[in-house]
Amino acid sequence: AKASGGQLVEYTPELDERAEAAERLGADLRHSLDDGDFQVVYQPIIDLRDDRTVAVEALVRWTHPVRGPVSPAAFIPVAEDNGLIVELGEWIMRTACRRLADWRTTLGSDAPLYISVNVSPRQLSEPGFPAVVLGILAETGLEPAALLIEVTETAIFGGGTAVEAVETLNRAGIRIALDDFGTGHSSLGLLRTVPVDVLKIDKSFVDEITEPGRRAVIVDALIHVCAGLELRAVAEGVETAEQADYLRELGYHYAQGYHFGRPVADPITPAAETLPV
Ligand code: C2E
Ligand code: MG
Ligand code: MG
Ligand code: MG
Repeated sequence: AKASGGQLVEYTPELDERAEAAERLGADLRHSLDDGDFQVVYQPIIDLRDDRTVAVEALVRWTHPVRGPVSPAAFIPVAEDNGLIVELGEWIMRTACRRLADWRTTLGSDAPLYISVNVSPRQLSEPGFPAVVLGILAETGLEPAALLIEVTETAIFGGGTAVEAVETLNRAGIRIALDDFGTGHSSLGLLRTVPVDVLKIDKSFVDEITEPGRRAVIVDALIHVCAGLELRAVAEGVETAEQADYLRELGYHYAQGYHFGRPVADPITPAAETLPV
């Protein structure tokens, strides 16, 4: 057997076992989609200048009927592989847009300005994807600027129809964020040609700024890149007040992380149930 990197991988029964486990998980995902075992939770995105929540990121949660909660890092790749992400992703998008519409109804101008939704490479390269998204906006009465779609560098720079989809969405007024920026195949040059509005600076760079012996070189450089290219920068994974202060000093305006709030069912409605899910 040959791995994608071109290295020879010795055949072991473990490979079969892993494939079988993924297949079982895939089948369980299918059942759970029908049974309603998924939930969408929301994490605040904060304006560092006044500590107010300007937006929320929608994050999916799966409670497996037997195994309990399973991390998206474990099941999203499986749903990508078996194609279920297309249906699951549409459900997540619709659920998130409905949520924002509901917040607007109950809270008016106290509702978040926009909702950020993760979209996987497979979804992005589905030919009908932009039309599905526009349909959900029409259905929920949201304007395109109320939605921000988070894609990864790997998806967008992988070429193919993903870039076309991004262009179509952007022309329609939906904004695009590059998620986990700095961890994929970054090409700063392509940022000028692909219509990206927001860079989400990966947690690994944010972690460094307060680690002893490390410096804030990359987060410092990236805020200048964003300013020069007129991109909004959102620092991800902010866990301490010290990190938040440092980011403020460097000129960051937006941040997200456990320091400000974990993903919960409703971080917006006053006195809502905010137990972590
Ligand atoms: P992501 O889009 O980069 O989302 C941020 C992840 O970091 C979330 O993990 C969030 O809970 C976590 N996080 C936020 N602040 C902090 C912090 O201060 N410290 C630490 N340690 N973690 C923090 P989660 O929800 O487990 O999701 C993991 C990844 O799975 C996401 O990374 C995203 O790539 C994927 N994912 C999650 N929900 C969806 C979805 O609805 N659709 C798709 N396609 N992918 C999703
Ligand atoms: Mg994200
Ligand atoms: Mg991210
Ligand atoms: Mg991340």
